[in-house]
Amino acid sequence: MKCFECGGEMLEMHGSVRMTKKDGSLIIFKGIPLYQCRQCGEQYIPGKWAENIGGIMRDENAISPDEIMTVPVIALHG
Ligand SMILES: [Zn+2]
Repeated sequence: MKCFECGGEMLEMHGSVRMTKKDGSLIIFKGIPLYQCRQCGEQYIPGKWAENIGGIMRDENAISPDEIMTVPVIALHG
């Protein structure tokens, strides 16, 4: 499988998918079987899993996370 973005090689792996909730906060799904480009990092999520994630995101108020991550944020002021 080739990357849609750059034509690089897509590797099959279990990875993390980052989604944004309606309020702008992040939510991360991990352990998702997906293809990721070794060159640019573009992800392709197989349909069944994209549907799963989409279904969960549609009812985002009902999400009960398995763990909470703390993410470093850097604000650059120009
Ligand atoms: Zn690529």
